[in-house]
Amino acid sequence: MENDFELKTTDFEEDRYSRLRLIPWWDQNRLKNATIMVVGAGAIGNELIKNLTLLGIGKILVFDMDTIENTNLTRSILFRAKDVGRYKAEIVAERATEINPDVKAKAFVANIIDDVGLGVFRRMDVVLGGLDNREARLSINQACYRVNKPWIDGAIEALNGFARVFVPDHGACYECTMTETDWMLINKRKSCALLTREQMAEGKIPTTPTSSSVIAGIQVQEMLKLLHSDRNLPTLAGKGYVFNGLTHDSYVVEYQRKEDCMSHDTYEKIIEKHWSAKTITWREVLAEIRNDLDDNAIITLDRDIATVARCSCGEQKELFMPVHKLKGEMLTCPKCGNQMSFDSIHRINGEENFLDKTPFETGIPLLHIIGGKVGMETTYFEFSADEKEVFEGLEEKQ
Ligand SMILES: [Zn+2]
Ligand SMILES: [Zn+2]
Repeated sequence: MENDFELKTTDFEEDRYSRLRLIPWWDQNRLKNATIMVVGAGAIGNELIKNLTLLGIGKILVFDMDTIENTNLTRSILFRAKDVGRYKAEIVAERATEINPDVKAKAFVANIIDDVGLGVFRRMDVVLGGLDNREARLSINQACYRVNKPWIDGAIEALNGFARVFVPDHGACYECTMTETDWMLINKRKSCALLTREQMAEGKIPTTPTSSSVIAGIQVQEMLKLLHSDRNLPTLAGKGYVFNGLTHDSYVVEYQRKEDCMSHDTYEKIIEKHWSAKTITWREVLAEIRNDLDDNAIITLDRDIATVARCSCGEQKELFMPVHKLKGEMLTCPKCGNQMSFDSIHRINGEENFLDKTPFETGIPLLHIIGGKVGMETTYFEFSADEKEVFEGLEEKQ
């Protein structure tokens, strides 16, 4: 039989990865050179990172905002009792580099919906989700589609779970799979967000270390196949692997792609600019975009930014943060205690009174991508100078 995979002399050397290399289509260099994002460092996230670490994935970026609680210890191989109270993301990143010094892992205590620029997603090979809420999944799905990156979702409940793979333009995306109930739950969460976000944490789901290891194992195996996409391996793109641990049933479902789905927007052309969201001003950004495109170009944003809160008593205060991040108490008038209303923007035309602020000061994350719009045409620009700060500590060893 003809073998199209070239065997190198290094394939026969016994190093840490030599048993993995015995798999005919395996290319350890791809794993070493891969950059993978893990969102959520809970039960599934621990198993994802354990697998990525053992496999020698070169760069792992972990996003999670929570701290470790006692109850996490039954499902999280990377946590120790002494870690209670520390950030999950920081602990898993530390443990990953302890387990395999070839791996570079970096923790981000950040909200995936608001705090992560699209340019971060753009630099990933695959995004892995270990999440417990729909809103974050929807946000990751949109971000991945905008920059044309695959993502793999995992979900568990008791002894069951499923893993789903979403590849832009290969079948259904996450939003395509959403049912009316999913939307209802998201909207319920959103509408209550201004008042009782704390109370709206999604219901506590029973999970086990056994189902999380099964599902995270499938997710990482699918990631491996995506990293070897030229090997013609069967993948789960647009499909879900469903595992029922109680009845031992497992099967693959294929999701219907919805042509009217709102998440299939992929940015055609992204221009890297030597801008940092922390130092350049909106005025300078607009001038450069107008210089590149047209004197009448405007800036478009992929999110609503709350600019100023106003009270009927005349009191005003600056907000400058994504509307999604607003909490009830931020809109309580400091003068009279009434509820304040707020202004929000998702485009900048040059008439704004905050043009001398930096994008970062107005709630835009590092390494984000914004639009420059002329008529119906939008060109995308990235704050590429932020790459240095975001990826600091993940550089190759010399
Ligand atoms: Zn879709
Ligand atoms: Zn007031």
